[in-house]
Amino acid sequence: MKKERILIPKPRSAYLLIKCSNCGNEQAVFSSSTVDIKCKICDSLISQRTGGKAKIFGTIIKRLD
Ligand SMILES: [Zn+2]
Repeated sequence: MKKERILIPKPRSAYLLIKCSNCGNEQAVFSSSTVDIKCKICDSLISQRTGGKAKIFGTIIKRLD
């Protein structure tokens, strides 16, 4: 069988591991989330919807590709 090259499109958005600036909890957040995301532990807002890319309030530790 002949091998075919499969092009994987680069996603414009990714999951980000965000550290809550209030309690230090680390939580995976979608970078273009359309909903406000709150910390599971302390309930403070860590990602806010903007219509485009989400606004991140905590510290971005890394991308989860
Ligand atoms: Zn928190």
